[in-house]
Amino acid sequence: NETVSSNFIKNIIIDDLETGKHKSIVTRFPPEPNGYLHIGHAKSICLNFGLAKEFGGKVNMRFDDTNPTKEDVEYVDSIKNDVNWLGFNWDDLFFASDYFEEMYNRAVLLIKKGKAFVCDLNADQIREYRGTLTEPGKESPYRNRSVEENLDLFERMKNGEFADGEKVLRAKIDMSSPNINFRDPVIYRIAHATHHNTGDKWCIYPMYSFAHPLEDAIEGITHSICTLEFEEQRPLYDWVVRECEMESVPRQIEFARLNMTNTVMSKRKLKLLVDNNVVDGWDDPRIPTISGLRRRGYTPESIRNFCAEIGVAKADSTVDSQLLDFFLREDLQPKAPLAMAVLRPVKLVIDNYPEDQVEVLEVENHAKDETKGKRKVTFSKELYIEQEDFMEEPVKKYFRLFPGNEVRLKGAYFVKCTGCVKDENGNVVEVHCTYDPETKGGESNDGRKVKSTIHWVDSKTAVPAEFRLFEPLILDDIEENKGKDFLDQINPNSLEVLEGFVEETQLKGAQPLDKFQFFRNGFFSVDTKYTTDEKMVFNRIVPLKSKFKL
Ligand code: ATP
Ligand code: MG
Ligand code: MG
Repeated sequence: NETVSSNFIKNIIIDDLETGKHKSIVTRFPPEPNGYLHIGHAKSICLNFGLAKEFGGKVNMRFDDTNPTKEDVEYVDSIKNDVNWLGFNWDDLFFASDYFEEMYNRAVLLIKKGKAFVCDLNADQIREYRGTLTEPGKESPYRNRSVEENLDLFERMKNGEFADGEKVLRAKIDMSSPNINFRDPVIYRIAHATHHNTGDKWCIYPMYSFAHPLEDAIEGITHSICTLEFEEQRPLYDWVVRECEMESVPRQIEFARLNMTNTVMSKRKLKLLVDNNVVDGWDDPRIPTISGLRRRGYTPESIRNFCAEIGVAKADSTVDSQLLDFFLREDLQPKAPLAMAVLRPVKLVIDNYPEDQVEVLEVENHAKDETKGKRKVTFSKELYIEQEDFMEEPVKKYFRLFPGNEVRLKGAYFVKCTGCVKDENGNVVEVHCTYDPETKGGESNDGRKVKSTIHWVDSKTAVPAEFRLFEPLILDDIEENKGKDFLDQINPNSLEVLEGFVEETQLKGAQPLDKFQFFRNGFFSVDTKYTTDEKMVFNRIVPLKSKFKL
């Protein structure tokens, strides 16, 4: 299986299957529906779905929706869509909120066993009493309430008799434990809020560290994979499963979360970018959400291969975002049709070409693969070329168009530059040249060579198009930016919008998300948001070459 490289989690699973601890495995992907998924989640998805597939087990899609205030159905729908788009299908779909009744009953069980109590301290006091790494905590004055009193108060919490924050339910474990998570953690809180799934049925909600182990146990998860920051919570996770007398015992395994350069990777920060209109939505092509990557043009294959390559480790690290680009190029190079597009156009006029003549030339459909055949494109006296392919006064090693120099027009003819026309501001508005009719197809009969091949689009059939080029959104590699709030590190030049032309043949009828290799300009994808019947908009996924070496 391409999606999971050899890793320590696999070894644990192999061991568990060999020793008969489990007959088969069950994993889960448990997002909280409080934002869109990002590429960090893709790593977790590839891992959980990949392991289930590789070992013939099951994988649950579970919405960890135990926090009523931040969650929304919009997020639920986008998450499902993103997981499917990445190429994965779950065995079962669950909502943690469907377990509220069961979780409540397990909390009651804890109370009956003398392992939980209702506490009236407020959040600040609880924090104060908790102590520090070097100092033991102090016991709450409410810690020794009787079982009867606790049962009564907890039921009244459930019935809505108290205001938010007035009371909490806490596990009764050990206020002097070296593991702070064991110092009577809060397991239920009051929140009079409407929940997207259960409505107003509940006004008490379980805390993550209580809810998550129960969710895993209820679903019979064998291997519960989470990120490293939960390592210290593992003893509490095991405590909850044990003390709540869950039949099925899941094992929590931590792995390093994915971090990438020049971007942000947390739903909270991504939401800030969206809410502050720094980006144009959760699917902005500059952010690493799955929907942003999709809209930019990244393919599921490139993301899966990226996740397989970075592998699974126990230590945090930051991956260069150009590694993802590498896998995108590798995926698209063989697939994407070749086309000509001029991003920053200037007219090229061929003075010795007959005024009304239109020729049909054949150019290859793929940069390297001849079996992809050829297509017909028109050619006439006036073409569009890139502004940067002409210099009136060439710099050293400039081999493109300048007065007196000859270049090849891709798949067409040799042309020799004769000069240019400028407007009153000195901007070049037309480049002039003559062509050699003997060089049709782009080869000379007399063995004459040219150093450059440039692309072009025939002005008679050119289709106007918008191109969107991207740079990293976050400037985090600049020394002075280290330690700054990420909102102050936004790259002001992360988006460049250009108006140019594309050839008609290859691009006619192109649909949103269709991908192309634009000769010399990179891989592009048709934008899903701004493309209209009148105007095509292309997102540059990546340029053709990168500085990055694997
Ligand atoms: P964020 O901090 O971005 O909001 P989260 O961890 O709160 O992410 P959840 O919806 O709770 O998001 O995560 C669902 C699953 O995805 C969890 O199992 C979590 O461990 C995993 N996950 C989240 N971010 C990353 C990441 N950067 N790398 C790897 N796995 C991640
Ligand atoms: Mg979370
Ligand atoms: Mg988080």
